[in-house]
Amino acid sequence: MFKCDYCDKEFMKEKTLFVHVCEQKRRALAKTEKHVVLGFDVFRKFYKITQPNTKQDKTYEDFSKSPYYNAFVKFGSFVSNVNPLYPEKFMDYVVSSGVKLDHWCREELYDQYVIDFARRESPETALQRSIQTMMNWGDANNAQWNHYFLYVSLSRATFDIKDAKISPWVVLNCKSGRDMIKKFNDEQLTAVSSIMDIPFWMNKFKKSPADVEFVKQIAKESNI
Ligand SMILES: [Zn+2]
Repeated sequence: MFKCDYCDKEFMKEKTLFVHVCEQKRRALAKTEKHVVLGFDVFRKFYKITQPNTKQDKTYEDFSKSPYYNAFVKFGSFVSNVNPLYPEKFMDYVVSSGVKLDHWCREELYDQYVIDFARRESPETALQRSIQTMMNWGDANNAQWNHYFLYVSLSRATFDIKDAKISPWVVLNCKSGRDMIKKFNDEQLTAVSSIMDIPFWMNKFKKSPADVEFVKQIAKESNI
């Protein structure tokens, strides 16, 4: 008899065992798939935070036997599809958010993460990522990167701002950025309204004049 290592079921022929698939075997075979790797990663993070006194790291076997396996794998697919801004940070955010597992794939949670992140990050990283985004746009469109605000499609700009790939630090501190926003239609303005919370940013800029000066200086030198 040939026995399945995962479910103990026995078979007369080795060939039959080879083609046999049970849930645990399926999970073992899926170990290296991207969404499963991400799900496992988050599973480990989750237990590190919720059970900090457990010394041993969770193994893949713990994962595949967990009743939450499917929920974590589903979240792994979400991370893989959404391609979040700084995936590791997003996973940390979700795991420590206190939000229950079956709500982790909600778009609102991702949007909130982006907003919180954009509000807290330094103007240096905001500028760096924004310039990087402009350069990617320039490469893809055979354009000069510093012409982004002048020539980018408004739907692409909406997406980049909503996902904080272009930061309010930059958009609001140069004329070309503000002029671009003036061309947005109502739908586009609504899409970016949470991240471009004008009273919040005006207050923040008022409190950090040196940072604003720094951003304006870089924007001027780069002819954005
Ligand atoms: Zn089996």
